[in-house]
This record gives sequence, structure tokens and C-alpha cells, in this order.
Amino acid sequence: MKEEVLVLGGGFSGVESAIKLSGLGHKVTLVSNRNYLFIYPISIWIPIKKKTFNDVSIPLEKLSKKHGFELIIDEVEQIITKESKVVLGNQTLTYDYLVIGMGMHKHMAKGLEHTHSICGKPEEAVIIEKEIEKIVKKGQGKIAIGFGSNPNDPSATAVRGGPAFELLFNFSHYFKKKKLKDKIELTFFAPMPEPGKKMGKNALNKMDVMFEHYKIKKQVGKKIKRFEKGAVIFEDDLKLESDLIIFIPGGDGHLVMEKSDLPLSEAGFIKIDDRCKVEGIDQVYAVGDITDLNGPKWAAKQGHIAEVMADVTAYNIHHRIKGSEKRKTYHNHLNIVCVMDSGDGAAFVYRKADFDIILPLPIVGHWLKQAWGFYYKNTKLKKIPRVPGM
Ligand SMILES: Cc1cc2nc3c(=O)[nH]c(=O)nc-3n(C[C@H](O)[C@H](O)[C@H](O)COP(=O)(O)OP(=O)(O)OC[C@H]3O[C@@H](n4cnc5c(N)ncnc54)[C@H](O)[C@@H]3O)c2cc1C
Repeated sequence: MKEEVLVLGGGFSGVESAIKLSGLGHKVTLVSNRNYLFIYPISIWIPIKKKTFNDVSIPLEKLSKKHGFELIIDEVEQIITKESKVVLGNQTLTYDYLVIGMGMHKHMAKGLEHTHSICGKPEEAVIIEKEIEKIVKKGQGKIAIGFGSNPNDPSATAVRGGPAFELLFNFSHYFKKKKLKDKIELTFFAPMPEPGKKMGKNALNKMDVMFEHYKIKKQVGKKIKRFEKGAVIFEDDLKLESDLIIFIPGGDGHLVMEKSDLPLSEAGFIKIDDRCKVEGIDQVYAVGDITDLNGPKWAAKQGHIAEVMADVTAYNIHHRIKGSEKRKTYHNHLNIVCVMDSGDGAAFVYRKADFDIILPLPIVGHWLKQAWGFYYKNTKLKKIPRVPGM
């Protein structure tokens, strides 16, 4: 009898796990509470109307048909590994092997309801688009964009700083095209004194030059006390007024983990070993943002790392089922790779243990990122062949 692999989550890590495992001939069922995969890295263009919600989504139904895995759209409510059971909203499933890739939740802050986030629910990108439309119609306004951290898990601040910078630069470019650059004030805010440090010293040094170029004000190094309607309040009661506040909170463990029996880090992320196997639990693996990366301090939860983890997991499950001793690990693949888009170009950021670089790519960088979006979507749908290793 074929062993059943159950994959939870229809994002980067879950879909890649399901694709790889079905490709290796296994019987795979994927569960997701959304019926589409959301390509977060290119969602930064929804607010400025360069991409629509549909451009940034891939229907899971199409992926399941192309790659031959079963699909269930339902909410995962609880995972009971002691009984090899997953409780969904409408049914309970059992498994031989389990892969968990359900992403993360946000680290709560006071007054978060007065903010919008590009890193939360996909629908938020469309809400931000509508808010930008209102400001453009008015012909003036103030926009504050920032990010926070989770002191219990530095990897969950992630390159989520990246999307904040990308929004700022893209908005600046968009308002310039609309001849509103001097009428709409853009401010970046963050509680840490050196936001962007994770990308490496070279990138950090370049950020001020970019802020100046795109005429972005800066408010960093002060703790955020709370958000109010139309304002960010800092620790010394400094008030940053804004018509639109976009805030990317640090990441927190997935809420389903609170009701499940998996080993968790202090911040609520699943503890795994270097082979993506959950610590102390046989035949259960975790991949992507939901895991405790447990790497160097600068390590970040990123899409390409989620895919590497999915590949490692599929390989390890496959060889375990075959009875072979072969295994892969993910730690040596940890790096930061980011094409930080600005609408009129991009900066290529790369960091690994002993090396970091930021490379300006005027004009071509923007098209490179667009090309990546096209490549990602169409290779997943098997419309174009995949380049090995990409
Ligand atoms: C705006 C933005 C820009 C980014 N840019 C880049 C970039 O340029 N480069 C890069 O490498 N990374 C980037 N990232 C990071 C990257 O998108 C994430 O690391 C990646 O999406 C993580 O994949 P994942 O599968 O772990 O989680 P997700 O992509 O979040 O997927 C989680 C999946 O689980 C499902 N799910 C959640 N809870 C449940 C539940 N209870 N029941 C059933 N299903 C559930 C969700 O519907 C979703 O399908 C960016 C992220 C954002 C937000």
C-alpha cells in the first residue's frame, strides 16, 4: 500500500513540498484554507496598480491537476501527532507522513487595527490600493510605512523589512509619475536603531542614500508605544501623523500550534532539525515560515528558503520510505537573497555567513523582478520549463 503524505498549507513551502513529493511518485494530499497560492514578493505592486490580485495568485486547483496531488480547501484547527491526526473544520484526517507549512502569524502591537500590512492577509494589498487611490484623488497626504520585530525570534523580522522599503520606493516613483511627489509625504519608521541591518553592512550603508534619492523621511530607534487612528505614537509620546499607516509586525508562531502537540520555540515556531524533521516526532516535518530557523542571527524567513526546505523534506521523506539512508540538510543553504524593487530599478541584496553585497540595478532590476514573477507562476503551472536549481 502507498504511504499517505499530508501537506498542510498552500503557500511557497506547502505547494513546493506537494509538487516535489508527487513528482517522486508519492500519494499526496494538500490542505489549505485559501484556494490559491499567493506570490507575496510581487504583491508589492498591487497598491500601485502594476499588478492585480489575480496576477499575483495561482489557483491551487490548477496546481493540483498539473502535478497530480489531491486538494482539500479547509481550515486546519489542530494537529495531534500522538494520534497521527489533523483536525480540519469539516473532517479529521490521518497520515503516514506529515509536512507542516502554514506560515506565521503577526506579533501583536497595541492599536494594530489602525494599520494595514502588505505581509498579512492577501486581501490587505487591495485595501492599501484603495487607500492610495483616495490619497492620489485628494492630491496630498501623509503616508507612514514601517516594520517591527519579535524579540523572541529575530528571524521572524525577516526580510519583511524588504517589502517595507520596496513599498516606500515604489510609492515615491508612482507619485513622481503622477506629479505628486512634493504633495505626498512618505515617512519610514522602525523601533530598531539600524533597520535593514540584517541585509548586511553594505546594504545598511546604502539605505540612507536611497531614502534621500526617493525623498523619504525617517523616524527610527524609538520604541512604538501604540498606533492610533491616523498616528503612530512612540515611547516618548512623539506623534507621527499619517493618513495611511502601513506596518509590518514581526512574526509570531502560528495560532494552531497553541492547540497542537508540537515542540515550539519561545516565539511559538516549530522546532526542527537540519533535515526539517520535527524534533522528537517521527514522520512529521515542518517547512518555511512556520519553523524555528535556528541558524545564524541574521538568518531570515524567506520564500527561497521555504522552497529549499520543501525540497530537503521531499527528498528525506522519499528516501526514508525507500529505506535508503540518504538525507539532505538545509542549514548550508541559509542566505539572504533579495531583489529590492523601487519601481524604476532595483537593488540586488545578497548575504551569507562571511559576505554581503548590495548591487544597484537601475531599470533592469525592476524588469528582473517582474521576470521572476512570470517565471515563478508559469513554471509552477508547467507552462514553461524550470531551470535546474531555480
Ligand atoms: C510582501 C512580501 C514580500 C516578500 N518578498 C520576498 C522576496 O522578495 N524574496 C523572498 O525570498 N521572500 C519574500 N517574502 C517572504 C516569502 O513570501 C515567505 O517567506 C513565504 O511566503 C513563506 O512561505 P510559507 O509557505 O512558509 O508561508 P505562506 O506563503 O504564508 O503560506 C502559508 C499557507 O498556509 C495556509 N494556511 C495558514 N493557516 C492555515 C490553516 N489554519 N489551515 C489551512 N491552511 C492554512 C495559507 O492560506 C497559505 O496558503 C515576502 C513576503 C511578503 C509578505
